[in-house]
Amino acid sequence: MSSPQSAVREDLFGGAEASVSNKARCKARFGRTNGVGQNTCRDLFGAWSIKCARILESPGLSPIGQPLMTTPSIDTNPLLEDWTGPFEAPPFERIEPSHFRPAFDAAIRQARAEIDAVAADPDPPTFVNTVEALERSGRSLDKVAGVFFNLAGAATNDEIQAIEREIAPILARHRSETYLNDALFKRIDALKAGQEKLGLSAEQARVLERYHLDFTRAGAGQPPEAKARLAAIAERLATLGAEFGQNVLADEKDWLMLLDESDLDGLPDFFIASAARIAAERGHAGKYAVTLSRSSIEPFLQFSSRRDLREKTFRAWGQRGENGGVTDNRAIAAEMVRLRAERARLMGYETFAHYRLADTMAKTPRAALNLLESVWAPGVVSARKEQEALQEIVAAEGGNFEVAPWDWRYFAEKRRKSEFDFDEGEIKPYLQLDRLIEAAFYAANRLFGLSFAERFDIKLYHPDARAWTVTGRDGSPVALFIGDYFARAPKRSGAWMSQFRGQKKLDGPQLPIVVNVMNFAKGGEGEPSLLSFADAQTLFHEFGHALHGMLSDVTYPLISGTHVPGDFVEFPSQIYENWMEQPEMLRRFAHHYKTGEPMPEALLDKLLSARQFNQGWATVEYTASALVDLKLHLNPSPDMIDVVAFERQELARIGMPNAIAMRHRTPHFQHIFSHGYSAAYYSYLWSEVLDADGFEAFEESGDIFNPVVAKRLRDFVYAAGGSRDYEEAYESFRGRRPSPHALFRKRGFEA
Ligand SMILES: [Zn+2]
Repeated sequence: MSSPQSAVREDLFGGAEASVSNKARCKARFGRTNGVGQNTCRDLFGAWSIKCARILESPGLSPIGQPLMTTPSIDTNPLLEDWTGPFEAPPFERIEPSHFRPAFDAAIRQARAEIDAVAADPDPPTFVNTVEALERSGRSLDKVAGVFFNLAGAATNDEIQAIEREIAPILARHRSETYLNDALFKRIDALKAGQEKLGLSAEQARVLERYHLDFTRAGAGQPPEAKARLAAIAERLATLGAEFGQNVLADEKDWLMLLDESDLDGLPDFFIASAARIAAERGHAGKYAVTLSRSSIEPFLQFSSRRDLREKTFRAWGQRGENGGVTDNRAIAAEMVRLRAERARLMGYETFAHYRLADTMAKTPRAALNLLESVWAPGVVSARKEQEALQEIVAAEGGNFEVAPWDWRYFAEKRRKSEFDFDEGEIKPYLQLDRLIEAAFYAANRLFGLSFAERFDIKLYHPDARAWTVTGRDGSPVALFIGDYFARAPKRSGAWMSQFRGQKKLDGPQLPIVVNVMNFAKGGEGEPSLLSFADAQTLFHEFGHALHGMLSDVTYPLISGTHVPGDFVEFPSQIYENWMEQPEMLRRFAHHYKTGEPMPEALLDKLLSARQFNQGWATVEYTASALVDLKLHLNPSPDMIDVVAFERQELARIGMPNAIAMRHRTPHFQHIFSHGYSAAYYSYLWSEVLDADGFEAFEESGDIFNPVVAKRLRDFVYAAGGSRDYEEAYESFRGRRPSPHALFRKRGFEA
């Protein structure tokens, strides 16, 4: 049963944690800053999240079966055919937006019939006729949703957005009809009660427990009135989640700042070339444009010496979702927070955060708060010291103002230059996108024996997207990997991993089709795309998620690949970033795009020795967002609160430094309103404890590709999906429980 099933147990759907089979994983972290100073953030939201958001939250009910637009015959709908082309990939060249609605309707009807048949089976429940039957249901819906939600994130348009809004509540209703079905739950409950007698394998037992938990957490077994209300809440949340994300996209799309030659002070050549290209693409040839995409605005804030323009762009960026009019998200956020709290109360939990975290590694809001608070205090201390240093630079330049959020990146860049004697612009010519893709593949080869061969016989959904066949040590195929790297207008911001098809072995092996979507700036005319150090980390991060999907080796779809809790799922992605930062990797792959020369050792040393630079700032901007998220969802009965006022009060309470802004302000905080990280934005930090501690296993062995450690990492983490308890999986890999000290060391906090 696919789409509506849960696997990623987050509330991706607003709380009803649902899951969808192709989840995508997003990234938003805060910066592990590499020496390059800037935050390394990535944001993301992916199809999974996107999908999830839809599936779970929602309202509006349009009757299933009413096609929105033209109705191609079902017989000729490419989404519903068997895909027989190369790698059985979706036939993108034949798929039109008008195919989606009828395909969804047919696929949902089919899934409904399959699931209802399981519920109505007159035979007593068995693992095969109930759990496996559910695992087999919804194949078509998986296929349709896989294509749709990937396109909705990476190549959307008005037609797709309209379908997205329509289909969100319908999918939520489908999910509710499944998870609130009494007959179905009775069968699962009976199996669970007699589990010892079933002779299940460890993986099967895990799948059964997971089903039982997913049903229970969705409200199965509750009285009828409660179930009706839970279903209504889920549908309303799904619609609101979809609208929230679309509003942010609209605010980003609408904003463009054009510059003349005279406005380019301080901006490096790579930025100017890219800004010229963006302006030309938007019909302003001869000018230069800054957009609200991170890959555009962050370098602008870092390098532009025009304080007035920095302030203007920063304010527009911070104001997304709060501009009044139809794209304003404040009321949507307030309603979502209220509905989530109501859902939690109906389920017998004190607050939404308690409900949400019960099914994570952290388990309780207290545990998550403890971690955040342990990092907040030293983070603020470091940030204040950093701020003093920046203020000295301002004074030395004769400036008479206090460092503001729009100044931080700019003066931090100057400080890095003076203290570490290099700047981002010096690094960038060595970080070519194509070489870094090669580097990510190389590490996967050394660690896991994977090989990558690009193929050109598969027509994808956009000319910029590329595909590779992935094979294992023995040459047998493992997965199809798609990389879609460049920013373009109808793409959501951020970076994410998603799947068109997940791995499973039930009824024969099914190989995954995994996609990484990024928003890197293309190079200028005839030039390669050059990345910042943070971009390079993002590339490796998302590739780590991709490996989690591609190396998955389980039988059942419910627990395949990235179908794991949000505070564990960032572990395989974040630990992979470590390989990019190793001197041995940079020597091999960081070559100058013009001369082909490797990065000079002196520059490499400077880069690596500056790793803890600006970590106070990065910790503060992330942790503030994570704390506001948790506090927002720890309110037992928020009645249409003013989310912006709440945010302000909370920041005052924790002592947020004036010179730093939240990484994501509430009105555009898509992680928590559109992408399944509600009350769970702390997950990135939680996973960072694991990844910092976990990478030290390689360092301690003296070999960053140590085959024994790599095998344990593969077996217990990348290949295991949700087939094991997560703490147990970590301990099996590491040989002991995780310790937070590695994280503190990495951030320079453990003096
Ligand atoms: Zn991630």
